[in-house]
Amino acid sequence: MSNDVCSVCKRREAFFFRQYSGEKLCRRCFAKSIERRVRATIAKYDMLEYDDRIAVAVSGGKDSSSLLQILTGIEQNYPKASLVAVTIDEGIRGYRDEALEIAAGNCKKLGIEHYVVSFKKLYGYTLDDIVKHTKRDGKSKLTPCAYCGILRRKALNIASRDVKADKLATAHTLDDETQTIFLNILHGDPLRIAREKPLTDKVHPKLVQRIKPFCEIPEKETTLYAYIKRMEIQDTPCPYASEALRNDIRLFLSRIEEKHAGITFTIFRSIERIKPAIAEVERKERLNECNRCGEPTTEEICQACQILHELEVS
Ligand code: SF4
Ligand code: ZN
Ligand code: ZN
Repeated sequence: MSNDVCSVCKRREAFFFRQYSGEKLCRRCFAKSIERRVRATIAKYDMLEYDDRIAVAVSGGKDSSSLLQILTGIEQNYPKASLVAVTIDEGIRGYRDEALEIAAGNCKKLGIEHYVVSFKKLYGYTLDDIVKHTKRDGKSKLTPCAYCGILRRKALNIASRDVKADKLATAHTLDDETQTIFLNILHGDPLRIAREKPLTDKVHPKLVQRIKPFCEIPEKETTLYAYIKRMEIQDTPCPYASEALRNDIRLFLSRIEEKHAGITFTIFRSIERIKPAIAEVERKERLNECNRCGEPTTEEICQACQILHELEVS
């Protein structure tokens, strides 16, 4: 590879072989190609208006740090748009505290306002409290990641409303999106697939629309982008990161991608094509407001309140 020349500029030395397209890219052309693809994805799914206030979910990890950097560049071309980074502090000792510092540092460097919301403040418990509590009473069937996911989703929506954002951008990559398709099927909840869109519908005034500008970028490439841009990122894994099924799916997908380059794109695009049909079925599940907290949910009581209720009574 070391003697190969970049297939785009035909000048600089190539350092990355993009198997699914056959391109060999130098650092500069690679970074540009990612930025270009993010712009194209935003345009393709009509993700942004010229005057949007965009909240970017930032964790301090590689994907969200790359996203913040790229959106900062894009936003500079839209004088009426604005960006704000939001971070959820789940309360994971030795992990989130370090990530928070990194996220804050990256925001400062880029001159982006940074808003932090904690589980403790919002719900009265840190994730560590919840894990301890559920382990002690031994009744819960949920994994720490399941608690974390449900509570973080709600917290991100509230944080986005707090900062008066029109859109909430998350750094879900092509790999995340494809894994989620399989997870939903394997969990027996296929209608959920329709909800995970590159740009979510405006279904409820309290639900901030979500956008996923990385949905067509493989995770390997967002990681490489963060590396090229020399961003400070957190690379220690979360101590609870053990969502076994997602990990199995990740392994399975990366194996078939290795053998059949581009297949992850094919899966993602196939599902995009049938989403309107799934959404039609899903539409029957109307969104209403949670009886306890008033946040949007398809159930009588939202999943976050169900969890918190469980913790109160046990
Ligand atoms: Fe939360 Fe699981 Fe991610 Fe840790 S790995 S931050 S527990 S979702
Ligand atoms: Zn080049
Ligand atoms: Zn609720």
